[in-house]
Amino acid sequence: MKITFLTALFLVGSCTTLRYSEKIKNLKDGVVYEQPQIIKSYANTISQVDLKLIISELASDKYEGRRVGQKGHEMAAAFVKNYYKTNSIEPLEAAPNYSQIVPESYLGEKYGTSENVIAFIKGTDYTDEYIIIGAHLDHEGIVEDQIYFGADDNASGTAAVMEIAQAFKLAAQNGYSPKRNIIFLHVTAEEVGLQGSRYYTENPLVPLEQTTAMLNMDMIGRTDYKHEPTDDYLYLIGVNRHSNELKFIAEKANGLATTIDLDYRYGEENESNRYYYRSDHYNFAQHNIPVIFFFNGEHEDYHKPTDTEDKINYQLLEKRSKYIFTVAWYLANMDHRMELDLIE
Ligand SMILES: [Zn+2]
Repeated sequence: MKITFLTALFLVGSCTTLRYSEKIKNLKDGVVYEQPQIIKSYANTISQVDLKLIISELASDKYEGRRVGQKGHEMAAAFVKNYYKTNSIEPLEAAPNYSQIVPESYLGEKYGTSENVIAFIKGTDYTDEYIIIGAHLDHEGIVEDQIYFGADDNASGTAAVMEIAQAFKLAAQNGYSPKRNIIFLHVTAEEVGLQGSRYYTENPLVPLEQTTAMLNMDMIGRTDYKHEPTDDYLYLIGVNRHSNELKFIAEKANGLATTIDLDYRYGEENESNRYYYRSDHYNFAQHNIPVIFFFNGEHEDYHKPTDTEDKINYQLLEKRSKYIFTVAWYLANMDHRMELDLIE
């Protein structure tokens, strides 16, 4: 009797194992990037020359470090809105001026009123579903008479979002519209506690339950202490928190338009830097929306006035932007909603 019982247990055990590996294999095999040449051709419209133009502007004296609630941030918001207008990228119906006001009553007297900037490309097939591609626009402002330019943090992510939007728009104009709606979201008040993104998730302009993924770029133009200036790498954080499928999507994007070393080390649950909790994607993850936080790690100019435009590695930023565009393309066009269960 005992032996039979043990055998039965063993069988149950191995069946479970089989089911796990089969499920994982099916998920992985199911991720297929169709029309890779098309994806590549639009990824290739993202250029370091354009990225440099945007960062040189946003990280210049004129914008005074883009502090939430201050003139510099307002001017930066106007610059971003104008870019979308110029590229014929529409606002959302719910925010016709590309703007979601974040009121002083929410941010507090110390910061005053600010805004999230939002642009939109319409999807053709899954018209009630949305993906969000975002980056915070604000930075530290002027501290003790010194401008904190925030070229890497986060003019780099901002410029990437804008260039990715332009690439999607170009594709749409040539008949390759995304199947899902895409929202380009430039949140404010990240530097004072992720407040702009929290405001958005508490006051969403499209239903959160219809938001199928969120990609966040925060500092993607430099290399960190752990890498050489010439290393082609990018940290992916949060990719394993909601969905096994998302990691396969992220992995298979690599090599399509560009190849970089994907580094998952900061994604672990007990990671001591806690980066997963420290940028805007976190507020979306809280609502069970699959997220990826793209990040280059910390360097000597992190949150210092010396985070300047001349230190950006534009070749690397271009590669990273092309890679993120490729991931976004898949998320916008995949033929089902992402499998949300983590297979244990
Ligand atoms: Zn930042």
